[in-house]
Amino acid sequence: MKGDVGLIRKVLNKRYRLHKERRILPILNELEKNQYLTCEEIENLQKTKLSNILKIAVDNVPYYDYLKKESAEIFSDGISSKQMLDKFPVLTKKIIIDNYKSLINPRCQNKVIKNYSGGSTGKPVKLLQDSVMRDYGLAATIRSDRWAGWEFGSSVFKFWGASRDQSAHLKEKAKRFLFNEYVFDAFGWDKDTIKTIYKLMKKEKPEIIIAYASALYFYVDTVKQMGLKPNHVPKGIITSADMLYDWQRKEIEEYFNCKVFNRYGCRELGLISCECKEHNGMHISSDRIYLEVVDDNNQPVPDGCAGRILITDLTNTAMPIIRYEIGDIGTISKQRTCKCGRGLPKLESIQGRITDYIVSSDGKYVSGTALTTVVPQLNNVQQIQIIQKEKGKVLTKVVKGANYSKQDELNIETVLKKYLGIDMIIEIEYVSSLLNEKSGKYRFVVNEMC
Ligand SMILES: [Zn+2]
Repeated sequence: MKGDVGLIRKVLNKRYRLHKERRILPILNELEKNQYLTCEEIENLQKTKLSNILKIAVDNVPYYDYLKKESAEIFSDGISSKQMLDKFPVLTKKIIIDNYKSLINPRCQNKVIKNYSGGSTGKPVKLLQDSVMRDYGLAATIRSDRWAGWEFGSSVFKFWGASRDQSAHLKEKAKRFLFNEYVFDAFGWDKDTIKTIYKLMKKEKPEIIIAYASALYFYVDTVKQMGLKPNHVPKGIITSADMLYDWQRKEIEEYFNCKVFNRYGCRELGLISCECKEHNGMHISSDRIYLEVVDDNNQPVPDGCAGRILITDLTNTAMPIIRYEIGDIGTISKQRTCKCGRGLPKLESIQGRITDYIVSSDGKYVSGTALTTVVPQLNNVQQIQIIQKEKGKVLTKVVKGANYSKQDELNIETVLKKYLGIDMIIEIEYVSSLLNEKSGKYRFVVNEMC
């Protein structure tokens, strides 16, 4: 009987979802086909969409008005996607806030909604999005959910975060029933809540778990500490929203005896890339976005090299989002093909926030992690912090150790220049402690340029 109820619910859920998402099913079909095109075919498709959205921006959006005089050149025959984009400025969150009205396309005929960026690194940014962008975003998410084994009708546990995503209680209950989907607020868990989730896991047997990487890791770590043995093997686990470290992945996969499909995206633009069953990089949704990895001069870096990620949305005509500075450092994979057969290019990795990087004097992004190797080379230094406020210069805050001398100061300069370039200006300030007063956390590297 219990099995029958489960089956009926699954069938109802599938029908309900298919009905609710009927508008996007043709787009989903389109995207499902796109993923198996060759790299060249995807590049051509992307170029057509890119050229179209850039034209809409130049012809209608006041912010890009000044590019009208160059229009013939920007959209000339034979120009590459990179060359086209090179004519456009990078769009930072600050630029969007300061120029909000002039970035809107007044002639957009589609239904428009407001969306906001996550606020973890400052003031949330308001963006306008049209129905086409939303539909493509949803379809791309469903496409990659399927890579992890999700299907219309699948039961899902979500370990989610922002309270903004949580609906009212009753609505939540209805959603649970209709979508066979439990959403757990991943903030402020205590042991009793974790136990309740653990018991529900056994009862409901979710086919898919979608989670903030850190929240799921916290769950696994806590149940293990409580001595609670694994009680369910899902079909697939999707992690997103924050960095998934290798050690977290290992522990989650071992506990659930199930592979993790890591994903990268953001609230304001939706899904950007997702792992396939090969778990060797994340396929970029290149049929709905154009992803660039650039250096300090906004020039593309070679595949396999780290740089800042810029995103151009290929579908949003309400407020074209062109070369949007997402705030992360990443690397495009050199590998052009994937064993899974998909032609979508891959992001090899996301290496973290720009704020954790120092830009060297020749424009390379040097990670805080790489710079930690500096520390053993310094003598008589108790603690050190490297802060960058402008290009070509860093402020090094130092807590002196016993026996610190002028020689040690010269050594700091020499060692840092090895990593950050010979032309880097190294300023040194002596402090008594290095705690960040607000959070109480110590950050080794702080980039305040962005
Ligand atoms: Zn693949």
